[in-house]
Amino acid sequence: MTNDNDCSMCQDAIFTEREGQYPNKIAELDVCTAVLNRDWQFFRGSTILVFRDHVKELHHLTSELQRRFMDDAARVATALEKTFPGLKLNHALLGNATPHLHWHLIVRHSTDPHPRLSIWEFEFPKTGQSDEELIGTADQIRRNL
Ligand SMILES: [Zn+2]
Repeated sequence: MTNDNDCSMCQDAIFTEREGQYPNKIAELDVCTAVLNRDWQFFRGSTILVFRDHVKELHHLTSELQRRFMDDAARVATALEKTFPGLKLNHALLGNATPHLHWHLIVRHSTDPHPRLSIWEFEFPKTGQSDEELIGTADQIRRNL
């Protein structure tokens, strides 16, 4: 495993301790770790998939690892769709704030106030969920993986 001392994702135990127990952790997948995004639960189920090694860009991976990273994202997307029927999913691979390869899977529900906008185009509450609520949501998604 390669990691970077200056990278918040490389230094966060939720992504580095394979066996760690966290309320928002969903699962260890083939090449990444899936966790609920604590700040974006206004869009309930929104998930971050963090690639296991410190890699900055998708095209820096071999085509084999690109495929496995995509397969992990599709597996979680399928589980989110089963968990929250009727959703629209947004996939984002940005890395501006944290240049460590990670997918955002953003769950847009039928109650979404601005379904035609990306979530960066409007304000939404960052109130978050309690640990109990996060555990419940992560369990629901995990059962559908
Ligand atoms: Zn990193």
